[in-house]
Amino acid sequence: MFLKNKHSSIEQIHFSEISDKEIFLFIKREDALHPFISGNKYRKLKYNLVEAFNQKKHTLVTFGGAFSNHIAAVAAAGFEYGFKTIGVIRGHELAYNLDEVLQTNPTLKFASQHNMQFHFVTRSEYREKTSATFIENLQQKFGDFYLIPEGGTNIFAVKGCEEILTENDDQYDIICSAIGTGGTISGIINSTKKNQEVIGFPSLKGDFLENEIKKYISEEKKWHINTQYHFGGYAKISEELITFINKFKSETGIPLDPVYTGKMMFGIVDLIKNDYFKKGRKILAIHTGGLQGIDGMNNVLKKKNLPQIV
Ligand SMILES: *Cc1c(COP(=O)(O)O)cnc(C)c1O
Repeated sequence: MFLKNKHSSIEQIHFSEISDKEIFLFIKREDALHPFISGNKYRKLKYNLVEAFNQKKHTLVTFGGAFSNHIAAVAAAGFEYGFKTIGVIRGHELAYNLDEVLQTNPTLKFASQHNMQFHFVTRSEYREKTSATFIENLQQKFGDFYLIPEGGTNIFAVKGCEEILTENDDQYDIICSAIGTGGTISGIINSTKKNQEVIGFPSLKGDFLENEIKKYISEEKKWHINTQYHFGGYAKISEELITFINKFKSETGIPLDPVYTGKMMFGIVDLIKNDYFKKGRKILAIHTGGLQGIDGMNNVLKKKNLPQIV
């Protein structure tokens, strides 16, 4: 009914920095699932849209920062399937000069062009967004709606992410994914087989993720989180990371985003370089998408006189 179950293609990666290592590295191109509802957001929204429809809701409300992949995806999904969308956006100051913001922020511009209505809130209000009062206020303002949590993670999102791996993927020993809120990796963990291990690369600091993931996974599976590659925190980025993303794209043709997949791939390559994996291992990295965020990040990089992601 919404967002058909599609399988994305897998490519082997040939990258000079690890060409002397006997490790087989592949990438699953979830970023190519849909032009606008890209990567894991496609998976995460699928059963949420079904649920919203079953509950006879016509409006989707969700939360995010000003460059959020999730905000862009919800706007595009609502536009495609006829839901009204409201984005509760962190940063009250953005409302004061919205026209200028829309010119310089490609994510909000895209969401607005796909008819998303914005509700800007202060950072402290944003922290309260799961409280009953906050939600009641939203209901008074916008009427009845289906609420999708920040980053889209809930049981419906995890169910959708269980469709990322297919039976053909049983041949891979190790599955790698970036982590934001943990919904995506939970679905991946649930769909792995006994012979497989999952490694998650958080794009942010903090040690709450393991417990978040445990809420959603059903059995004893082999998985762990590697916290070495967050580059200082969420949406934090360094010249070294930009250089890596650009080199990876020029050699493999595969674009990576700076917030999630770039950090994950940097981590995988670094682990391979340091002989972390046994020889002969087949690794499957999940490209969770996020490429819409590159233009917005480049605007930020320009202001800081840092090189651009090309
Ligand atoms: C949102 C996002 C993630 C994080 O997914 P979670 O389910 O929140 O862990 C990872 N990669 C990309 C590209 C994303 O946009």
